[in-house]
Amino acid sequence: MIPGLFTYHRPGSIAQAVKLLADLGEDARPLAGGHSLIPMMKLRLAAPDHLVDLGRIADLKFIRAEGADIVIGAMTSQAEIIASPLLAEKAPVLAATARHIADPQVRYVGTLGGNVANGDPGNDMPAVMQCLGARYALTGSKGTREVPAREFYEAAYVTKLQPGEILTSIRFAAPPAGHGWAYEKLKRKVGDYATAAAAVVLEIAGGKCKAASVALTNVGQTPLFADKAGKALAGSSLDKGAIDAAAKAAMEIADPSADIRGPVEYRRSVLGVVVRRAIAGAVSRAR
Ligand SMILES: Cc1cc2nc3c(=O)[nH]c(=O)nc-3n(C[C@H](O)[C@H](O)[C@H](O)COP(=O)(O)OP(=O)(O)OC[C@H]3O[C@@H](n4cnc5c(N)ncnc54)[C@H](O)[C@@H]3O)c2cc1C
Repeated sequence: MIPGLFTYHRPGSIAQAVKLLADLGEDARPLAGGHSLIPMMKLRLAAPDHLVDLGRIADLKFIRAEGADIVIGAMTSQAEIIASPLLAEKAPVLAATARHIADPQVRYVGTLGGNVANGDPGNDMPAVMQCLGARYALTGSKGTREVPAREFYEAAYVTKLQPGEILTSIRFAAPPAGHGWAYEKLKRKVGDYATAAAAVVLEIAGGKCKAASVALTNVGQTPLFADKAGKALAGSSLDKGAIDAAAKAAMEIADPSADIRGPVEYRRSVLGVVVRRAIAGAVSRAR
C-alpha cells in the first residue's frame, strides 16, 4: 500500500520547523524516523497533508550531561542510544530497552523522540521515561514548556503535545551510581510489541530498598506509572511480601485489551510475571 498525497517540508532549524507547523496548521505532522507514522499513513490511519521532516535539524540530535541531568535530543536514534558510552555509564536501562525495540533496521532510523511522542501504548521507551522521572521539552511558537513523562500520556495516541509543537528533548536526573534497573518484555517473537512489559529502577542501601519506581508497557491505553507498586517496594527489605504487593498493585492498574497477543486475563497475569522478573533483575544489578 502507498500513502495518500502529501507535501514534504525539510526545515533546517527548530525555529523553521515550529514556524512551518504553525503556518500549516493541524494538517501538518512532524516526521522523525517515520517507522510509526509512515505505516499509519499506508494504512490510512493517518493522512496528513504536510510532513515536516525533522531529520536535518542538527540541534535535535545529541546525548549529553548537563550538571546532574542527562539530556537527549529528540532525533537521537535508538541505535545511537545503544552505542552511547554516557548512557551505558549513567542510565544503562535505556540501551537495554532500545535493544528490545524491533530490529536493527528500525533502530537505526527510529528515534527516541518519535517513540515517546507517538502515544502508542506499545512503544517501549515511555514507561522507562516514567520510571526515570523524565521531563519532555515541547517547543512551539510561544516558546518551550516542560511536561513530566508521568503526565504526558492521556489516551492511546493522545498526549499533551499541542498542534504546532515539537518535542525537542528529553531530560532526567541521572540515577545514583549503583542503582538497580531492568526492562522486562514478554513478546511473541523477535521484533514484536510487548504482550506486557515492565520497567523498574531502584536503590538499595543497608539491605533495604531506599527508593523504587515501576512503570508498565502495553497493558492499558497509555504507558502506566505504577506508583503503588514502587511504594510497596520502597522501605522494604525486598522480601516476598513486598514483591507480591508490588506485582499485585501493578496488575490492579492494568487494563489490557484482548487482541492477537492474548485475552485480557492472560495479559494481566503475564504482567505480574514480568514485574517480578524486572524487580529481580533490578535487585541483582543494584550495588
Ligand atoms: C517492524 C517494526 C517493529 C517495531 N517494533 C517496536 C517495538 O517493539 N517497540 C517500540 O517501542 N516501537 C516499535 N516500533 C516503532 C519504532 O520504534 C518507531 O521508530 C517509533 O515508534 C517512532 O519513532 P520514529 O522516529 O520512527 O517516529 P515517526 O514514525 O516519524 O513519528 C511517530 C509519531 O510521533 C510524532 N513525532 C515524531 N517525532 C516528533 C517530535 N520530535 N515532536 C513531535 N512529534 C513527533 C510524529 O508526528 C508521529 O505522529 C516498530 C516499528 C516497526 C516498523
